[in-house]
Amino acid sequence: MPDDSKFFLTTAIDYPNSRPHIGTAFEKIGADVQARYRRMQRQRVFFLMGNDENTVKVSKKAAELGLGTQAYCDDMARQFREVWDALDISYDTFIQTSSPRHHECCRKFIQKVYDNGFIYLGDYEGWYCEGCEAFKTDTEVKEAGGLCPNHKTKVERRKEPCYFFKQSAFQERLLKLYEERPDLIQPESRRNEIIEYVKGGLRDINITRTGEEWGIRVPWDEKFTIYVWFDALLTYITGIGYGDDAAEFNKWWPCDTHFIGKDITRFHCALWPAMLMAAELDVPKQVFGHGFVYIKNEETGTAEKISKSLGNVVEPMDIVTKFSSDAFRYYFMRECPFPGDGEFSWSRFADVYNSELANNLGNLLSRLITIPSKNYDTVLTGTAGRTPVVVVPQLNLRDFVSEVKGYVESCRFSLALQKIVQELLTPTNQYLELQAPWKLVKTDKDAARDVLFHAIETLRIASILLKPFMPRSMETIYKSFNFTTPWEQVRYEDAATPSAFAEDLRVLAALESGKVKPLFPRIG
Ligand SMILES: [Zn+2]
Repeated sequence: MPDDSKFFLTTAIDYPNSRPHIGTAFEKIGADVQARYRRMQRQRVFFLMGNDENTVKVSKKAAELGLGTQAYCDDMARQFREVWDALDISYDTFIQTSSPRHHECCRKFIQKVYDNGFIYLGDYEGWYCEGCEAFKTDTEVKEAGGLCPNHKTKVERRKEPCYFFKQSAFQERLLKLYEERPDLIQPESRRNEIIEYVKGGLRDINITRTGEEWGIRVPWDEKFTIYVWFDALLTYITGIGYGDDAAEFNKWWPCDTHFIGKDITRFHCALWPAMLMAAELDVPKQVFGHGFVYIKNEETGTAEKISKSLGNVVEPMDIVTKFSSDAFRYYFMRECPFPGDGEFSWSRFADVYNSELANNLGNLLSRLITIPSKNYDTVLTGTAGRTPVVVVPQLNLRDFVSEVKGYVESCRFSLALQKIVQELLTPTNQYLELQAPWKLVKTDKDAARDVLFHAIETLRIASILLKPFMPRSMETIYKSFNFTTPWEQVRYEDAATPSAFAEDLRVLAALESGKVKPLFPRIG
């Protein structure tokens, strides 16, 4: 029986040879929105992240800096976590693949696959890219004019004895799997790409290196270390107890969603399920290959890949410290469609922030706090026992919430946000403009009170629906009023069902010298 009460999700395990940039952060935020949403919906969630440390590049980088590899990895892990914490990424565990526990459990896994007959000794010769830490096929190198197709750098000819994983043995089983489980690979475009790739024939994969000090030893032949991809993928199971805590492992596996960048879909949709089959384990329920964030060059207007050599790297902390983690999260989830690609530029950031957060949501909040505070001494007397209605004409609240829910569950976050802004927030602001309760209050205080009472319902609905996206500011909004359900207990269904107020609606947010502290101060 599939266990729908739990939700286990992971993000890609990052190389710590440089600090995380906004593209790396994009993935973590998308995963975090999903994790927070699932928690709201009362699923038991386990959210795994980590760093991929057993690479030659990492030990080289450490040596360049005159550091021990472990010390370097530990310091980078600290720096990564600092960024994830600043972005309010609610991970439950952060795995460093250099940890002894990961090493031991990895060794158990590879031994099992070896015992099952899916690993053999051979020779590998081919074109090797140091940047990718992978061999490239002759065709790939030829097509790229003798260079690595990803890095556009020189590849070198390498030959070495090594152990192979019999990936070729799984071609039929994989194709059958894709057919039986159409939801496995998301979005759809990546699914088609993978099916074509696997149909083209799978090579056996060399999974070991020799002559490396750093890395995980092959248990039955210790002069070999395990190739980084093979060990990195295993983080997804060693992090939940594979190899040393069967009860915990069975509680979470199979994974509900692996969030990864689209460039590593093959590793996750072909190699990874094949490895799991070889070890007689279940395959994940879903792999989601998200798009990339490009930097929009404001002078030329072109979208550039984020890269150190182009000098266009934007660090998450640049945005978080200037604005807030919620503003950061909002921009990327709103502007960059998660399944596709998106762009970042400071001017676009300012536009989205000002128009949707400062002028729209922020303005709505500030009006709905200020008017009741100044004219009704914070209490809308006579509203106890009344049930508010949404002030947007023609909005079917149940359908609206259920569509937003569908977008969130399928990771189409930008569509969820667009819908909330366009169909709920903007029309509520328009309603206020039309009713002008700030004027009405002078001639008909009861009518103005009604306008406010119903308009505030929009803030209740919006803060619940936006909770996974902007956890901090939505808590501030929700707690600005005496809504009945405690903030910690709200779920999406609550947004769809307005309920009668037990007491008179009251503004709890305090004014500071007659004014609301702006939740999203305008960018000048
Ligand atoms: Zn490369």
